[in-house]
Amino acid sequence: MSVGADKVPRMAQVVVIGAGMGAMAAAARLAVAGHRVAVYERAETYGGAVRRFERDGFSFDTGPGLFTLPAVYRDLFVKTGKQPLEECVELVQVDPSSRHVFPDGTAVSLPNASRAGVVQALDAALGAGAGDRWGDFLVRAREAWDRTRRPLLEEPLWDEWHVLGGREPYPAVPRKRLLRSTRRAGTLAEIGAWELRDPRLTAILESHALEFGLDPRDTPASAAVLPYMEHAFGTWYVRGGIRELARAVYERCVDRRVEFVFGAEVTGIVEKDGRAAGVELADGTVAEADHVVAGVDPVRLKGLTEHVLDGEGDVLPDSSTPSPGRFTVLLALRGGCEAGTAHRTVVHTPDREAELDWVSGAGPGPVPPTVTVLRPDDPARLDREHESVVLTAAAPPKGDWTADGSPERFADLMTDAAGAAVPGLRERVLWREIRTPGRSGDETGAFLGGVPAPSLAGGDGGFLHPANSTRLPGLYRVGGWSHPGGGLPHAGMSGALVAGLIVEGPDFMGSR
Ligand SMILES: Cc1cc2nc3c(=O)[nH]c(=O)nc-3n(C[C@H](O)[C@H](O)[C@H](O)COP(=O)(O)OP(=O)(O)OC[C@H]3O[C@@H](n4cnc5c(N)ncnc54)[C@H](O)[C@@H]3O)c2cc1C
Repeated sequence: MSVGADKVPRMAQVVVIGAGMGAMAAAARLAVAGHRVAVYERAETYGGAVRRFERDGFSFDTGPGLFTLPAVYRDLFVKTGKQPLEECVELVQVDPSSRHVFPDGTAVSLPNASRAGVVQALDAALGAGAGDRWGDFLVRAREAWDRTRRPLLEEPLWDEWHVLGGREPYPAVPRKRLLRSTRRAGTLAEIGAWELRDPRLTAILESHALEFGLDPRDTPASAAVLPYMEHAFGTWYVRGGIRELARAVYERCVDRRVEFVFGAEVTGIVEKDGRAAGVELADGTVAEADHVVAGVDPVRLKGLTEHVLDGEGDVLPDSSTPSPGRFTVLLALRGGCEAGTAHRTVVHTPDREAELDWVSGAGPGPVPPTVTVLRPDDPARLDREHESVVLTAAAPPKGDWTADGSPERFADLMTDAAGAAVPGLRERVLWREIRTPGRSGDETGAFLGGVPAPSLAGGDGGFLHPANSTRLPGLYRVGGWSHPGGGLPHAGMSGALVAGLIVEGPDFMGSR
């Protein structure tokens, strides 16, 4: 089919590259709008990072283990069919939202989505006043959320994105200094030091950034929205594992007649008359299209076309520094989990500076890390005599794990730390499976297995992701490496935005 720059049929052929969550969300919406949609996926399955590892009856989520803002996927299901999300998967609110264990031996369980409950729990565990300081922080974080929710979740990236980069939406508390000058926290670390004033509260705050590999010492204060989102919209699990969410989205696509071609690597974007007109596959065949939607890392996308996709004044994909990823250890344990086990426990590092230096590539390591321990008490997955536990920790982007410490050494450090969350851990291990970030990179295509963070305001725009539209007409970016960024809800929203831009045109203003 030959199409001119200004002639795109109403019922168009859309080719989607990759079957990640953002790409599938776009595909389902575009199919409902009447377009013919074909997804070409390099791997033999859908879901991208949202995978499951199974062995000997044990099953583990190897990508996301929890998520927030289920409204994004609820909306996808409402807009694409009769059956709501809740009829396709069983969503479970996790309570407590998380348990935190600190190096000084104190621990606190934070109730899910309850400000009063969180304040009370923090006061009881960390001392009077800690709860109020955190509660007051959440009020300010809410203001940052209210200011950025539309541009950084619900709308295509503004042309005047510099406003988002330059203006810090977090209303930091003025801090009096000498000569009557005042300073306000500009980074997450400064919020911790100046407003929370307790290393344990700081550790809770910073763990929300660290899980995306962000260094809180230079992450803008606007990242306060990360704990706020969990607090306000809850922490969610899907019965059977998060892979069930991917299955449901895939099945919704198939119901809407989206065609999937697995084992089909896209090796190039085909251009005709100055616009994207299809894709070339590894076997040399060409799939023609009126629109191409790329659900892959934008750095990789640049390798698929010679066309300049971004120009002066655009947010550029960051190809200079690879993003840290998540190192994962899957533990098959004998014995079931004890009653009342927290689904998620974060065991905080004894040496914050050393961990941040190592993860950001500025210091030696590996060092004892902050470890997230996921213990889903899910009868849909396993008998009561065994337990599947997933440990994750932020890890620097590197391909060679044998250079300064083998994967086993880091896995040992993680397992040691996890002992604070799983009684008798060492004696219970039947086997373990180690996954370096590179393994998830193999599954997603992300360079060295980096995990994309949600887009954040402030920081001179350095924490934004490139727009969904590109300078090549007919080519769009979707998924965690494009606006509005990574994580399941944001990637799902990118699908809604791309579908809106294709269906309604470049003036689409988002789902207000
Ligand atoms: C270890 C890990 C832990 C995470 N934890 C969380 C969490 O707790 N909570 C949360 O919300 N999010 C988490 N995330 C992030 C979340 O999984 C992603 O942001 C989300 O799934 C969106 O993915 P995506 O749409 O960008 O697609 P991706 O998952 O990146 O998938 C891209 C797809 O494109 C395919 N592809 C790539 N190149 C080509 C090509 N040339 N041709 C054809 N196909 C191609 C790949 O095979 C892959 O299937 C985690 C991610 C990882 C890796």
